[in-house]
Parts: sequence; C-alpha cells; structure tokens
Amino acid sequence: MMHHQPLSSDHHSAQSNDGATQRPDKPEEACGVFGVYAPGEDVAKLTYFGLYALQHRGQESAGIATFEGDKVHLHKNMGLVSQVFNETILSELPGDMGVGHTRYSTTGSSRIANAQPALVETRLGPLALAHNGNLVNTVELREHLLKLDCNFETTTDSEMIAIAIGAEVDSGKSWLEAAISAFGHCSGAYSLVIGTPVGLMGVRDPHGVRPLVIGTLGTTPQRYVLASETCGLDIIGAEYLRDVEPGELVWITEEGMASFHWSPKPERKLCIFEMIYFARPDSIMSDETLYSYRLQLGRQLAQESFVDADIVIGVPDSGIPAAIGFSQSSGITYAEGLIKNRYVGRTFIQPTQSMRESGIRMKLNPLKDVLAGKRVVIVDDSIVRGTTSRKIVKALRDAGAAEVHMRISSPPVTHPCFYGIDTDSQDQLIAATKSVEEIAMQIGVDSLAYLSWEGMLKATGEDPNSFCTACFTGNYPIAVPELIKRSKLMLEKEKEIVVTA
Ligand code: SF4
Repeated sequence: MMHHQPLSSDHHSAQSNDGATQRPDKPEEACGVFGVYAPGEDVAKLTYFGLYALQHRGQESAGIATFEGDKVHLHKNMGLVSQVFNETILSELPGDMGVGHTRYSTTGSSRIANAQPALVETRLGPLALAHNGNLVNTVELREHLLKLDCNFETTTDSEMIAIAIGAEVDSGKSWLEAAISAFGHCSGAYSLVIGTPVGLMGVRDPHGVRPLVIGTLGTTPQRYVLASETCGLDIIGAEYLRDVEPGELVWITEEGMASFHWSPKPERKLCIFEMIYFARPDSIMSDETLYSYRLQLGRQLAQESFVDADIVIGVPDSGIPAAIGFSQSSGITYAEGLIKNRYVGRTFIQPTQSMRESGIRMKLNPLKDVLAGKRVVIVDDSIVRGTTSRKIVKALRDAGAAEVHMRISSPPVTHPCFYGIDTDSQDQLIAATKSVEEIAMQIGVDSLAYLSWEGMLKATGEDPNSFCTACFTGNYPIAVPELIKRSKLMLEKEKEIVVTA
C-alpha cells in the first residue's frame, strides 16, 4: 500500500484567495505544466523560468519538484511564480530533472495542499506529477482507488492520477506499464508531466484537449523540455521539436526520448479556446503563432459583421490582435482606447463595495482624447457573464464615445467546460439564457455581434473536427456524466454563498 511523502517545503503564508470573493468574468485557464531533463544544468532555474512564461495559465499556486537520483525535492505554495520562489529556495532544489506547475483551481478548493506537483511515494521511488486538464470520471476513479486501499491527501483529480500510477507500480509494473495501465482508468482532459527517479514522462490524453509541446536544449548531449506552450521553451532558449500527440507518451531518460502511442483510438479535439484566448499570442499551435490566428479571427469578424465607425479598439490584452484584424479587413482605423495597468497582477486586497459602486477601475482606464465624440467598435474575445463588458461600455461612454459597437471574436458561450477551464455554470452564462439583442441591451451597446461558429473554425485553416468547441455547442467530445454536471452547478452555488456571505 502506498503512502504520501510529506511535502519538503514550507507552506506558510497561504493566503485565502479562492477567487470566490471576486470571480473573474472570463473563462480561466486551469494550469501550466513544465518539465526538463538536463543533467548538469540548473534544472530548478530552468523550470522556474519555464513557469514564469506560463504564468498566464494559472496564478493561484506554483510548484517545482526536482529529482536528484532517488531523492525528490519539492517546493510549492500559493501565489505567483515570482512570489513562491527566490534564489535561496531554487538553490535548495538540486537535481537532473525538474517538474513544474502553475495552478488555477478547477477541482478541489484552492488551498496549498492542492498545489502541484502532486507527490506520491511508490515501490520504485517517488513520482511527481503536474497536470493540466480535468478528469470527468473522478467518481469511478476514486472508487477504483479506494478498492486498492489508496489514501488521499488532497481533493484533486491530479492527485488521483498520481495515486493510480503509484498503485500500478506497487502491483509490480514498470513505470511505463504502470502509467499506461493507469490512463486506462482516466477519462477527461489531461496533459501531464511526470518525474520519476529514472526519467521524465510527457503525456496527452487521447483527445489532446490541452496542449503539450516538446523542445530540445543544446545538442551534445541533447536535453529535452516539455511545456504547455512554446513560450515556455522560448524563454529558456529551447528549440521547439514537436507537439506530444494525442494519446502519446514520451519517455525521456539518459538514453534519449522514446515515444509510445498507448491509446487505441486517439482523436484530436484541441480546445479551441486555447487558440482564441487562453494561450499566449506568441505561442505556436498548428504551425503558426496564435497572434496570427487571432488576427484572422478579427478579419473574419469584420467580414461577418461590419459596422460603420470611426475607430476600432480592442479590450487589452487578449482582444487586441482580433481588433487589429478587424481594422485591417474593415479599413476602420485601429486605435488604443483602453490602457491596462500591466503591473497589478492579482491582488489579494479587494475593493470595498462602495469603491466598486463608484466605479473603481483596477485594470482598464479609457483614453478620453482618443474616444471623445467617436463611433467606436470595441473587440473582445468572449463574453461570459457580461458584467465586465457592461463596465467597459460604461467607461467608454463616460469618456465621451458617441456610439459603442461591440464585436466578439468567438461565438456565444452557452455551455460550461468540464475539461479544465473554469467557466461559470450554465445558469451564469449570459448567452445561455439571453438572445444577442437582450445581451446588447444589458451591456448597453448600440450593436453587438459575435463571430459565427463556422467562421471561427474556418479561421483555423484546419479540419474543423479536430477541435473541441463544446462551450459553444454543448457537443462534448468526451462524455460528461450527469453527476459531474450537477456537481459543477452545486459548486457554483457554494461560491455564490461565499460571495454574498
Ligand atoms: S468546452 Fe470549451 S473551454 Fe472546454 S475544452 Fe472544449 S472548447 Fe475548450
């Protein structure tokens, strides 16, 4: 029977900031994962910088595990990568291999025990696992693991995957056999980086819902890097080699990298929202930067819903490329109309209710001299609940905009995500219950248009069947049990209670 090795790090100063007090009005990316196999290099620092580049994928907690032979060193805590680590902490993480994680919670409450990498002790030594995604069969998996007498230290599906692999190892299997066997019990989205005393694994679920790329560092000897996005490679000077394929496991050891296609029926269903909004614009997916794809979305949007106006502006930062694309295609001048405070990060201090009512602008400030008297097209990548959009529109009108036309570079979000993105439950999604005209009225614009589903897929230039688009259609490529759907709704209710308490 397995047990969990206690965390080697200090976990003091875990702030209680579960996002419930001020839920962002955007889908939130769940996690960034990173791994490096580089004997002789400072793997802790390489992992740190990799996570630093992946910070946009999760801002609640960060962690690094390094392997020094059979020994594992781990440090994780709540906060941004730059808050969790310093030179001294990194110097206490020696080894040949590093596994890193940044987290925004989707399952399990956001407390320090749920920060990753998850660590499990096995017959063959420790295992450290970093997970991006979300399992949809946690109920069955939990029952399966309980039958094997496994203990749970945290509440995350990620820990369950680590425990499932550990249980297979303890039954006599090798690392590879154990991992492949454990994935047979996992359903949902999972891009994993797994460290063991002998090698580093990179894995994508058979649908490849979340991204994972392989890079190389240096030539002799060649070293390997795994990261959620190519921006995690660029920052440390690694060369992009290729994506980990859906249903593939890569096993990196002192002998090099080996590949195993373990799933009998892989079928790519990459999350289209990674391309629209989540991933960094300088990351490459499907052979082009996401900046180029987002420009294309904006061009398509202008073709579908042109409106006569004086300027086009974008909602910083994620709406900017689509706004530029809209301008290119429509011929309407692009301008910066909203300035983002780039240095705020995520604050633990919440404004008081009266500050909020008086319109405190934490993040965005309009440029009055650009906007006054102008007919403005404002482009954003999505609308979730509409609360932020309403505030932005009011700010533009207060700054003197004569007309405000909103254009959205994705279709209406009508369904929640169960694959690792924190969207609201369906009853909170404005487009699930209201028509486009009703939404336009609610957020106070002169006109509103969304990109069509066909237009969004056309802009990818790829097989439309190779994407998950379930939050726009409700067609979930991996079946989601009713129980999981209901529990998301209940979780949202709990969060609402916290908000109003
Ligand atoms: S449901 Fe939406 S956010 Fe979730 S994986 Fe599919 S496309 Fe992405």
